[in-house]
Amino acid sequence: MRISVIGCGYLGAVHAASMAKLGHDVVAVDVDPGKIERLAAGEAPFFEPGLPEILTEALASGRIRFTTDMAEVAGARVHFVAVGTPQGPSGAADLTYVDAAVASLTEHLSPGEFVVGKSTVPVGTAARLAEDVSRAVPGATLVWNPEFLREGFAVQDTIAPDRLVYGVPSGPEGEAAVAALDEVYAVALAEDTPRLVVDLATAELVKVSANAFLATKISFINAMAEIAEVVGADVTALADAIGHDARIGRKFLNAGLGFGGGCLPKDIRAFQARATELGVGESLAFLADIDAINLRRRAHVVDLAAQALGGDVRGKRVAVLGLAFKPNSDDVRDSPSLDIAARLLEQGAEVAAYDPEAIPTARRVHPELDYVDSAEAALTGADLVLVLTEWNEFRALDAATVAGLVASPVVIDGRNCLDRDAWRAAGFAYHGMGR
Ligand code: NAD
Repeated sequence: MRISVIGCGYLGAVHAASMAKLGHDVVAVDVDPGKIERLAAGEAPFFEPGLPEILTEALASGRIRFTTDMAEVAGARVHFVAVGTPQGPSGAADLTYVDAAVASLTEHLSPGEFVVGKSTVPVGTAARLAEDVSRAVPGATLVWNPEFLREGFAVQDTIAPDRLVYGVPSGPEGEAAVAALDEVYAVALAEDTPRLVVDLATAELVKVSANAFLATKISFINAMAEIAEVVGADVTALADAIGHDARIGRKFLNAGLGFGGGCLPKDIRAFQARATELGVGESLAFLADIDAINLRRRAHVVDLAAQALGGDVRGKRVAVLGLAFKPNSDDVRDSPSLDIAARLLEQGAEVAAYDPEAIPTARRVHPELDYVDSAEAALTGADLVLVLTEWNEFRALDAATVAGLVASPVVIDGRNCLDRDAWRAAGFAYHGMGR
């Protein structure tokens, strides 16, 4: 099928390359000429495992084309909209990019084609845009197909998603949209991937409620960590024990620095803002607490660092291991790790920061930090070690070797990802999260 993808960021670039991998003929558009140039040269503009391989394969097959010219989408049957919906100044989602992308796409649409929203938007956006599209191009239909991919697993999640959600209007238009999307996702559907056909508002809500639930799960266990820290209990053992209850489940119950990235934080704020606009703000008032618990974790680690250094971080050398908001990604949007590194620097610490992939992205946001090119360089002479993103490289560190590098054997394990006993055995004062 001929497909277009508008927006080539973390979502769109992976979606476009994956669609080509599935055999579709794809034209991918972005307003950023630098990004398009790199993608067209087969270079992924960000770190995502598996993306370079499928991108190279797609370009070699001739099934993908990258352009800044929206006119080139003409003739595609399905147009995916994957542009950003960042947090605006009030906390609500900034829909400027989605509105602009749909408006410019509409100029090149023909009857019988489908505009398929993938961006995460406030409930009600799709209905508004659907009206704009069908008014401008009668016979063209806008539907919403929210995306659930996880950065770090984005290719696999796009090619083999755990579910597909189609938000479509009722009637023949909606049926035609379902048939078109079934063709797009034929490979996943042949593997019995659950597919839920719902109305536009439900589709938009599925996405934001999924993120609100995940954020709640993380902040719940971090609240338990706060309690555990006071009473000397172990939140990891607690999570294991409650996680055995199938109604609760163990996943997403890892206490640590909390969530970050380009989705969860902004999505829960936008969801609250939208509920308030709709007059049901009270229903989501709890999300303000979820956000507050999450942000307290960062402050807690900064305090813990000061305590571990005798009350003041000034002039102390701190090794920061991990800057990305999660491992297997170079994304530092709202990253707790990078935030903590910057706060420690601000308080006068000498921060030596290392991340296997996220140094270039981190440098753009915080050029003032001292970035080093290996964990060893960061650790050498450190008065305190902070492990802030749970990359396998850090999990695999040999505590005895690290003990030989640092000036003082003190470690804060911000993700509870180290072998506590091994680090203690190597002579470290070990501080975990809620344990
Ligand atoms: P991003 O900022 O990485 O990418 C957005 C891209 O859209 C940029 O490359 C930008 O240049 C481009 N763009 C902006 N306006 C455009 C226009 N008018 N025409 C063409 N391109 C345009 O953002 P992202 O992380 O890819 O997220 C995109 C959307 O997907 C957001 O709504 C996000 O919430 C949602 N989402 C993201 C993820 C994720 O893991 N990143 C997962 C699910 C959903």
